[in-house]
Amino acid sequence: MTRRTLVLAVIVPGLAVAGVVAQQPPTQRPRIPPTGAIKKVRDNLYVIPGAGGNTTVFVTQNGVVLVDTKLPNNGEPILNQVRTVTDKPVTTIINTHSHPDHIGSNDYFPASVEKVTQENTRKWMAANTRVASNPAVMPTRTFTDRMTLGSGNDRIDLYYFGAGHTDGDAFIVFPALRAMCAGDIFAWKMAPLIDPAAGGSVLALPVSLEKAAKGIPNVDTVIEGHGDVNTWQGFLDYIAFSRALNDAARAGRGKKTADEIAAELKPRFPAFTKEQLLTDMEYGGTPLSRAVINVNIAFQELAKQ
Ligand SMILES: [Zn+2]
Repeated sequence: MTRRTLVLAVIVPGLAVAGVVAQQPPTQRPRIPPTGAIKKVRDNLYVIPGAGGNTTVFVTQNGVVLVDTKLPNNGEPILNQVRTVTDKPVTTIINTHSHPDHIGSNDYFPASVEKVTQENTRKWMAANTRVASNPAVMPTRTFTDRMTLGSGNDRIDLYYFGAGHTDGDAFIVFPALRAMCAGDIFAWKMAPLIDPAAGGSVLALPVSLEKAAKGIPNVDTVIEGHGDVNTWQGFLDYIAFSRALNDAARAGRGKKTADEIAAELKPRFPAFTKEQLLTDMEYGGTPLSRAVINVNIAFQELAKQ
C-alpha cells in the first residue's frame, strides 16, 4: 500500500462521508444505501440499516429510544420506519460515538429528546465547529464509565472500556433482551476503521474489547455499528482476531511487512480477512485490506512508544 493510500484510509473516519466520496474516482465510488426497512431483532428491539450506521430502535413503555441517527437528513426516513412498529414518541437518543454517520440526524428530533453520549464523544462533537454550531445535535447528558437509564424491562446499561475506533466508543446493553449495540468498535465483521484524530487506537483496541467481554454480562445478540446483527460468540471471535493482529504487529515490526502479517492471520481468522468487497460497504476496501491498514497503524503507534 502506498503512503498516500494509507493516509487517506486512516483519515477517512474523521471526515464527512460526502467529502470522502468526492475524492474517489467514479469506479471506486462506494454506494451508500438509503435508509432501509426496519427489522425486528427481538421483541421490542429493532434495527434500521442504511444511510450510514445502523439505527437501533428500543420501544419502551414511555417512548422510543434510538441508538445512532445515521448521516444528516435521515430523520424523517428513520421516523417513518419507527412509525411502522409504534406510535410512541422518540424520547431518547444515544450516540455510540462522534462520527457524522452516527450522529447526523440527531437534530431532526425535538429539543426535548434527551441525547446521551460518552464524555469523550461529547468532547469530539464540541471540537467540530460544524457539529457544535448546531445545538440540536449535541448531547444533553454524558457518562464516563457506566450509566443506567430506565428500569425493569426498559433498563439500558451504557458502558465505556477505553479507546478503539475512537476514544468515546460506548456499548449500549438492553439486559431484558440480552442484546447490545457495539457501535463502530465492531462493524462489518472486520478490523475496525481506526480514527486517531478522535483518540482511536489499534493498540488499545483489544484491551478495551477484552474489558467489554469481561465486564458485560448476559448478552447473546450483538448489533454491529454497520452491517448485520451478530452473536456474543461472534463478538468474542472478533476480539481474538483483534488481539492476534496486535500481537502479530508487535512481533513482526521491523521484520515483516503489514501485508505479510495480515496474510499470516488468514488461516486462523478467515471470516475477518476476506478478500472480497462486502456488499453495502460504504467506505470501500476488503476485510483483508482493512487488516493491512490496521497493522500499519499499529506500526505507527508502536514507533511513538
Ligand atoms: Zn465511526
